[in-house]
Amino acid sequence: MQTAGDDMVVMTLIARAAELAPEDPALIDVNGQTVSYIELLRRIEQAGSSLRELGISRQDRVAVVLPNGPGMAETFLSVASAATCAPLNPALTADDYEFYLSDLAASGLVVSSDSPPHAAAVAQSLGIQTIHLDDLRRGGSAPLDDPGHNDDLALILHTSGTTSRPKLVPLTHTNLCTSAANVALSLGLGAADMCLNVMPLFHIHGLIGVLLASIQTGASVICTSGYDDETFSHALLSLNPTWYSAVPTIHQSVLKLASSRPELAGASRLRLIRSSSASLAPTLMQDLEATFDLPVIEAYGMTEAAHQMASNPLPPAPRKPGSVGLAAGPEIAIMDDAGGLLAGGAVGEIVIRGDNVTRGYLDHPQANAEAFTKGWFRTGDQGYIDADGYLHISGRLKELINRGGEKIVPREVDEALLSHPAVTQAVAFAVPHASLGEALVAAVVVDADVTEAALRDHAFTHLAAFKVPSQILLVNAIPKGPTGKLQRIGLHEKLAGELRVEYQAPRNDIEELVCELWQEVLDPEQIGVNDNFFGLGGDSLSGVRLVNRIIERFEVHPAVESVFRAPTVAGQAELIEQLLIEQLQ
Ligand code: AMP
Repeated sequence: MQTAGDDMVVMTLIARAAELAPEDPALIDVNGQTVSYIELLRRIEQAGSSLRELGISRQDRVAVVLPNGPGMAETFLSVASAATCAPLNPALTADDYEFYLSDLAASGLVVSSDSPPHAAAVAQSLGIQTIHLDDLRRGGSAPLDDPGHNDDLALILHTSGTTSRPKLVPLTHTNLCTSAANVALSLGLGAADMCLNVMPLFHIHGLIGVLLASIQTGASVICTSGYDDETFSHALLSLNPTWYSAVPTIHQSVLKLASSRPELAGASRLRLIRSSSASLAPTLMQDLEATFDLPVIEAYGMTEAAHQMASNPLPPAPRKPGSVGLAAGPEIAIMDDAGGLLAGGAVGEIVIRGDNVTRGYLDHPQANAEAFTKGWFRTGDQGYIDADGYLHISGRLKELINRGGEKIVPREVDEALLSHPAVTQAVAFAVPHASLGEALVAAVVVDADVTEAALRDHAFTHLAAFKVPSQILLVNAIPKGPTGKLQRIGLHEKLAGELRVEYQAPRNDIEELVCELWQEVLDPEQIGVNDNFFGLGGDSLSGVRLVNRIIERFEVHPAVESVFRAPTVAGQAELIEQLLIEQLQ
């Protein structure tokens, strides 16, 4: 554990683990190949020296676009040790990369042959040097020997905010190491622990809540490419992880998997399951606890806090379903609109302060003036602290949609839809969803003949897939609030009639079979051909299961993204028919 007086920097955490147990595994791939702590330290020193030879200094920002896995974990640790690391989602569009890379003023972009080629193409067009992972690993003439200082920036992430322009959240080594220590303490992590990481390593949850929290205690991390049933069950049975952390959507898939393969829970060595980044339904928590016979620890995190703010405690202290637990690192208070702190039980804005909290957004004095009051950071979440000190989140003041842990700025979606010539008004909004918590839907008013499918195709060319609304409602008018402004919050109630889909029975064999597959994957009461996969409770994980069943049943190979592109039975049946015809030609 980090002790007072030590430099709180990422490289010292690794160096300490390498000194105590050099051969212990730090990173493990899904096939069981390990990178020991001593080897990880050597690679980080080498990568740092490569960066210096490429002209990257400690103050420079280096973006990284790599698929999830051990390579991404190692690269984050390497770049954060020598410069400031800015990991980006590999699923972003070229327009997104153009915005993010320019906004970061990145001095370099790390990619591998598995990165999306348009990321490097955009970097090149912006005059940003592209650094191939192999070259990073090659090493320079002298190993990096300067581990940096507490106040140096280690990580920059973009956050979603109330405006369509995401803000830059700078996090220092102190921020990261404090948060990692907070998570490790909350979960009682030790060198014998092994985390099965299914979270993306471009998001704070995976980076700090899993990776750095583990490294902090000399524990190991199995780095997967993300969650899928096959990899998860294989890793659970063959590598014996002791815990995993995920968003509720993934927990729901794990629960489904465990009910279809009862041997998994019995054979697993998991001692705890952690949930964060979106609200965990009490029933899901209780079902997981009963299935795996372990505590499910719900925690509350955000990018600006370098992840963890609150966490339910380990037994024997009580976990409260529906609560995000006790302050677990920073101080937490509840503030009113005027900036006064409220007494216990009162509902207000959740505010935090502590060494894990960012000192402020970069180049954004107005956002900082709004976000900080009397030294407290305003989270934009609403809640209260109960008599036992447990924090409950009761709402959200910021206009953000939390789609299963993926945060979407609705205004960005409005703008993408408004860029279609037929659209005169567009409002994206959240609809309650069984496994995602919130699904993304949009209502549009159009002044020309256009179909929902055409608007969705348009949205796909402007937005990353996860930001494309699952349903785009064509309406005559979008309900307005009392001041005449278009209102996002509560829109799903006002448009409940439009969200309901008129039942229409399958009209041919393919539609009939697609309905059967939906039934197997989603188990809804009734499926009509115009029903929406996401409207009936589907999410990207069940979408993958559906595509696998389509492949088995029809012997065609649609892309996984096709479920997003054609989310109705009719649309998917049409797609399958087209693929069958192409096969015959
Ligand atoms: P991010 O910056 O992506 O980590 O998102 C932070 C936001 O996720 C918070 O401000 C909350 O709105 C939400 N969030 C995180 N953890 C939880 C939780 N356990 N329950 C409900 N919402 C959560």
